[in-house]
Amino acid sequence: MSKGTINVSVENIFPLIKKFLYSDHEIFLRELISNATDATLKLKHLTNIGEASVEYGTPQIEVKIDKDAKTLHVIDQGIGMTAEEVEKYINEIAFSGAEEFIEKYKDKQGEDAGIIGHFGLGFYSAFMVASKVEIITKSYKEEPAAHWICDGSPKYTLEASDKKERGTEIILHIAEDETEFLEEARIRELLTKYNKFMPIPIKFGTKTETLPKPEDAKEEDPAPTKEVDDIINNPDPAWTKQPTDLEEKDYKSFYRELYPMQFEEPLFHIHLNVDYPFNLTGILYFPKMTQDLNVQKDKIQLYQNQVFVTDNVEGIVPEFLTMLRGVIDSPDIPLNVSRSYLQADGAVKKISSYITRKVADKLKSLYNENREDFEKKWDDIKVVIEYGMLTEDKFFDKAQDFALYPTVDGNYYTFSELEEKLKELHTDKDDKLVLLYASNKEEQHSYIETAKNKGYEVLLLDSPIVSHLLQKLESSKENISFTRVDSGPIDSLIKKDEAALSKLSDEEKETLKTTLTELIPEEKFTVQLEAMDSDGQPFVITEPEFMRRMKEMQQTGGGGMFGMGNMPEMYTLIVNTNHELVQQILATKTNKKKERLVNQALDLAKLSKNLLKGEALTQFIKRSYEMIK
Ligand code: ADP
Repeated sequence: MSKGTINVSVENIFPLIKKFLYSDHEIFLRELISNATDATLKLKHLTNIGEASVEYGTPQIEVKIDKDAKTLHVIDQGIGMTAEEVEKYINEIAFSGAEEFIEKYKDKQGEDAGIIGHFGLGFYSAFMVASKVEIITKSYKEEPAAHWICDGSPKYTLEASDKKERGTEIILHIAEDETEFLEEARIRELLTKYNKFMPIPIKFGTKTETLPKPEDAKEEDPAPTKEVDDIINNPDPAWTKQPTDLEEKDYKSFYRELYPMQFEEPLFHIHLNVDYPFNLTGILYFPKMTQDLNVQKDKIQLYQNQVFVTDNVEGIVPEFLTMLRGVIDSPDIPLNVSRSYLQADGAVKKISSYITRKVADKLKSLYNENREDFEKKWDDIKVVIEYGMLTEDKFFDKAQDFALYPTVDGNYYTFSELEEKLKELHTDKDDKLVLLYASNKEEQHSYIETAKNKGYEVLLLDSPIVSHLLQKLESSKENISFTRVDSGPIDSLIKKDEAALSKLSDEEKETLKTTLTELIPEEKFTVQLEAMDSDGQPFVITEPEFMRRMKEMQQTGGGGMFGMGNMPEMYTLIVNTNHELVQQILATKTNKKKERLVNQALDLAKLSKNLLKGEALTQFIKRSYEMIK
């Protein structure tokens, strides 16, 4: 037996390892299983190239708890280590690696702690949970097995062992304050979280399997059972296979494997697969989106060589794609750096733009293959697409081919189709294409009707970020503008018609305006007289597009709106001088009656714009009952 002291330059790293990233203690198991996997894959490689003259067989990794001894065991059948290799790899290389790691990150808890926790501390992370660690290992080479023991001080012992089978067993003597790692449920949870798709089968205990009944069994005989190894992982997950080897149902069942609690099927998937200039595989799924942009984030899982790293892929995929689900596996994503560095990293930028391009290509091919089906899916996917158009210029350009603009009547157009279809009727006198839209079919019903009766096409754009998107569309396309149906009198929105002839004289108009301004003291309304169709509405409340849009953009954030303070409420009260009621108001002699007419008409206009609320609504209802009594 030999004793030794690990060459420590920092005074003692073990207490530091223990303290380090307190919340991430659990990663030790992932680290040990990664080592066991590496050792097994190395053996596979050596036997493949004829370097190791042993049978590779069907190796497993076993995880075992011994409650009485208070130990946790990770056992592999990989290449193992000779005593000399233990000295070299464990006492020197691994140790100095861990030392360097701790040196570098010990002061960096705060913001970067998360990502650093994902980065391997390696074998020595065992000391986060163990007061003593043993390694019993037998190399594939013809050499005696070795037994290394270290109690968390820089002192260790190394002696021969009589272990017969090839491979390595790591024994953790779990520390007093870490006994959760002796609980079966806790270990199972960790194995499922980090190792669900690792490439070597991982056994954790046994389970009972029901066998088919023998032919001569009686009806009431119970089916026979047997105990079998409980393998917790799927070593060949779908993303590691070639797309050509997979069918639609394989993608769906993999989705269920990833999200067992998710009952809704994904809409479609995108298989990512490149090996140059970086390595990346993965499958992304488009789920049905809701209007809420935040609830669905953090569903994409990031793996490195089938080892789970994190489900926060911020900085790796563009933000709009964090709403998708699925897995990304890449050994090329540097995880030992902070988020801000990650975003600036050249390789990561390439990865991010590759993913964006693949998503755009997929959307385009879905659109090309079956437009009808794509239209049906539009409402469920538009949030992602519109958000992507808003935030990624490259995606914006590509999306011109498949982004759809539905009308209130359920027709779907691309932007160029819209231009083509609407250029006649929707072009104003400055040759600008004016696109009318509604954001809510119910609330803007009367305005939509008015526009449709005039033969105009009304789009239905109801995403939460639509005002930002319209701003972007207007600034990137020439000579177009969007205007909501309730932002002005319909004909003047599309300023083509010359005003209809007014039935009132200039003098009458003057009187009418004075009367109305007196009777409507609310400052937020500006009265504007318009000669419109006599069968249109007498009073219409509109809100200028610009003001409303700025207000919306302020509410949904961004758009350079910061620091502008709250936008005031401003409405225009359009008075149709050709309507009978308006003429009646003008002709009414008694002030009281005039006031009643104006108030009632104004309230109806407010009601139609969803502005009549609270006491004013109660009063209106009361007054209306009085009138019909
Ligand atoms: P890393 O795995 O990043 O190299 P570790 O500290 O985890 O660093 O391990 C250091 C070295 O110890 C490994 O590179 C490997 O040579 C050896 N080692 C660790 N675990 C095993 C194992 N289960 N079987 C064989 N060798 C191992």
